[in-house]
Amino acid sequence: MHELPLTYRIFDQAMKAAEENKAVRIDAVYLRVGEMRDFVEEITQKYWDYISRGTIAEGARIRFLRVPAAARCSACGEIFNFDWRSKEPTTCLKCGGEDVSLYSGSELEVVRIAIV
Ligand SMILES: [Zn+2]
Repeated sequence: MHELPLTYRIFDQAMKAAEENKAVRIDAVYLRVGEMRDFVEEITQKYWDYISRGTIAEGARIRFLRVPAAARCSACGEIFNFDWRSKEPTTCLKCGGEDVSLYSGSELEVVRIAIV
């Protein structure tokens, strides 16, 4: 159910951008979604269809651009993908360092909207 409030937020953003660009219709909304986000494209689409009824965004397609989970090593700067579901501590693949921080994988943002 957590998709609903976020879909509202995405909808507001898209409508604002469409208004600024004097769009007559929104065709598609592209979202960058980190793989650590428990977010389902089909459900987001369903909510979108419900929220956008009767607006210029009705019928727009929601497209997810998935971003893999990656970490950055503070010792050597290496950026590498890791299994975020694993319970094991994440260590740098290059130098074995343990001081790593999340680099990507938790995003949720509108990248682009296709308007007419
Ligand atoms: Zn390293």
